[in-house]
Amino acid sequence: MNPRVISFHYTLTSPSGETLDSSEGKEPLTYLEGAEQIIPGLENQMGKLKAGDKKKILVSAADGYGLREEKYVLKVPRKQFQVEEVKVGDEYYSSEDEHAIPFKVIALSESEVTLDANHPLAGMDLTFDVEVTEIREATDQELQHGHAHGAHGHDH
Ligand code: ZN
Repeated sequence: MNPRVISFHYTLTSPSGETLDSSEGKEPLTYLEGAEQIIPGLENQMGKLKAGDKKKILVSAADGYGLREEKYVLKVPRKQFQVEEVKVGDEYYSSEDEHAIPFKVIALSESEVTLDANHPLAGMDLTFDVEVTEIREATDQELQHGHAHGAHGHDH
């Protein structure tokens, strides 16, 4: 079967019921099947739905943003930081990429800064309330590019 392009609204909640992200009031999220545009645990379940379906999808941490890994926690000498003041909770990006995962300051001593580069949602079981708004066949151009071009298609 050819990959399809699926558009859906979603609300993402944490195990404690906190809303982490939502497409409410925005355009639905649109992805190309098999292109790893959304997390695997969500894509597996989304593929079984029809346009108009609403469903609560539970995604374990392992099928979501992965488990927290201690190897992504690093200690850096305080003097390597060019900035005057460092606070717990500050975030630093190692590149200009908007999808880059920030290094978050999680602990401080006089000589060392402890940074955590785990994804903020790593280790978290996630609940997605989804509503499928549209399912269509992928265009040749989308298949070539390896990503969806939005619910109504657009140039870029
Ligand atoms: Zn494209």
